[in-house]
Amino acid sequence: MGKIDEIYGSLVFNDSAMRDRLPKDTYKKLSKTIKNGEKLDLEVANVVAHAMKEWATERGATHYTHWFQPLTGITSEKHDSFMSPTPDGRAMSTFSGKELVQGEPDASSFPSGGLRATFEARGYTAWDPTSYAFIKDEVLCIPTAFCSYTGEALDKKTPVLRSMGAIAKEAGDVLDLFGKTGEHVFTTMGPEQEFFLIRESDYDKRKDLILAGRTLFGAPPSKGQELEEHYFGAIRPTVNEFMKELDDELWKLGIPAKTKHNEVAPAQHELAPIFERTNNAIDHNLIVMETMKRIASRHGLVCLLHEKPFEGINGSGKHNNWSLGTESLNLLEPGDSPSENLQFLVFLTAVIAAVDEYQDLLRMSIATAGNDHRLGANEAPPAIVSIFLGDELGAIVDSLIDGNAYVAHAKSKMDLGVAVLPTFFRDTTDRNRTSPFAFTGNKFEFRMPGSNVNLADANMVLNTAVAKALHDFLVAIAGTSDLEGDTLAYIKETLTKHRKIIFNGDGYSAEWPVEAERRGLCNFPSTVDALPQFVAEKNLKLFEDFGVLTRVEAESRYEVKLEHYSKLVNIEAKTMLKMARQRLFPAVTGFANEIGATISNMKTASSGISVRAEEELLKKLATGADAMSDAITVLDEATEKANGVEADDTAGNLARAKAFHELVIPAMDDLREKTDTLENVVDKDYWPIPSYNELLFYV
Ligand code: ADP
Ligand code: MG
Repeated sequence: MGKIDEIYGSLVFNDSAMRDRLPKDTYKKLSKTIKNGEKLDLEVANVVAHAMKEWATERGATHYTHWFQPLTGITSEKHDSFMSPTPDGRAMSTFSGKELVQGEPDASSFPSGGLRATFEARGYTAWDPTSYAFIKDEVLCIPTAFCSYTGEALDKKTPVLRSMGAIAKEAGDVLDLFGKTGEHVFTTMGPEQEFFLIRESDYDKRKDLILAGRTLFGAPPSKGQELEEHYFGAIRPTVNEFMKELDDELWKLGIPAKTKHNEVAPAQHELAPIFERTNNAIDHNLIVMETMKRIASRHGLVCLLHEKPFEGINGSGKHNNWSLGTESLNLLEPGDSPSENLQFLVFLTAVIAAVDEYQDLLRMSIATAGNDHRLGANEAPPAIVSIFLGDELGAIVDSLIDGNAYVAHAKSKMDLGVAVLPTFFRDTTDRNRTSPFAFTGNKFEFRMPGSNVNLADANMVLNTAVAKALHDFLVAIAGTSDLEGDTLAYIKETLTKHRKIIFNGDGYSAEWPVEAERRGLCNFPSTVDALPQFVAEKNLKLFEDFGVLTRVEAESRYEVKLEHYSKLVNIEAKTMLKMARQRLFPAVTGFANEIGATISNMKTASSGISVRAEEELLKKLATGADAMSDAITVLDEATEKANGVEADDTAGNLARAKAFHELVIPAMDDLREKTDTLENVVDKDYWPIPSYNELLFYV
């Protein structure tokens, strides 16, 4: 491993590389573009492109790609070489400003949810100069947005950038009110990425892991996570080697990987980077996921990013730590003085209002087939969105609403009249792990996203919803002559209205869903319940009002999500059927055959001998095989039925997704249960795939 300061960012065309490599005036113009989001003119782009190419080829790059985030899958790239032939039969390496700024991937192979039918088929990619180009596997990757020729976003990055613009405007206006003019506000994000590492040799033997990313069969291991010995335990040597190389690779790419540790489940780990601006943090998280997968195989390991690779064992999430600020300020940091706290309370109130008002959208933003296995399963937050504030802040909010004096922990009494707003302390002691949306001192932690998701959707929703709440405040306060008094009144009124979203209790308890219903909170247990919220009228209006998604864009995204859900469950069902029929059922009959032969042999050898145990086992195998065979038939029919649902339009796509959820998933669960029962009875030598014991407990 090289020294951090030498390798960090060495494969990134970052600010320091730009300064070194670009003529002064070009550097200045590019910096301005990056800071203010201005358009880059072609002359500047030509100079930048040339410098970038020289820099990249010196580092071994031969190709470049416009790297982008399509609506499904993780990232996409199409490699073009720098080579261009010369008339005299030789070749030279070139890279023009046009090639840097704009690309034209074949849009037809990416999901667009009907957008292509309505609009021009072709799409183009456009460089996002706020995200630095980097080298990966000898390819210069240029982070880009992907749009149709008529301007519709076909990717996940574009709406995130738009939502950051929306919140920057509203938050900037709020700061103006508080006398901080000319500040540029941006949102920040730090994703805590959970993942599993298993041996490649085991992975290769399981078609379910290969095709679906999770185990579709598997009896519980003899030892699970009950001893809780894995969390923060010593990291296995093989894993340690992997982690070291991962850090190195990420640092070279300028990704601030900071902490890594074991998680609760055996073979589960977490990597947390230092937070960055949201669009950069999202790009980097996607690279982290990709790099984890790539590096694992160099160590004989496979990285599983699925939200629930193993039944009965904790799944993997990705906590989305979120805040907003300026170069020098975190706006969710409680201040030291009463007036700073008034400003803090405005932002806090906006987040509370936003999360309550758009709880359905937040739930929708992280809904995937994989995450359905996690949410509400006593290991991850429930599917109901609520906010945890902690004792200190909770008490302050209560006082603000009720108009009572606030009693601080130190037992000093304070009146909440504006002139004496208390200086309160950061409360990080009481961390409620069961809350989906928790205040953790100077940021909020949205804990519902699954490990495999692109965090773009969650942040797009969060940013836009908070922008709306800040906008509402600005409208309410416009033209006031008593800023403090009216602000405090607005805070009181808004907190009172949205108090129902605040819940400091145990989110895993059986009472919570009942209480949540009483409060009128949304509860969308599954993806098919949650996805339609995307196109609820109030939500379409939100996106439209803040210029984040047009109606057509939102509707097409909804359709893509529905299609994706059905496709995923279909793949899982088909994989199960194949494994059950071709590998697992034959294992059962093979073993039954051996027991049958044993019984005959024993009877022949000695007429008086007891074959009771053998016969009981044979009976178990025969009944089990019948049950398994029946379950195969049911799943087969259910899958056929779901695939038979017409899905030419959005309503059809919803109907098909529902059929997969209501018919296919229960049939999969049943087949799994019948098969796992047999796994526990059949001789291990007959069972053709590695068990949970082997997958999870290796050295
Ligand atoms: P935890 O106890 O949940 O592990 P940490 O303090 O280690 O909490 O932070 C977790 C994540 O939160 C890290 O990725 C960190 O960079 C991120 N984070 C810290 N401050 C902010 C902020 N202002 N905005 C966004 N993310 C932040
Ligand atoms: Mg966390």
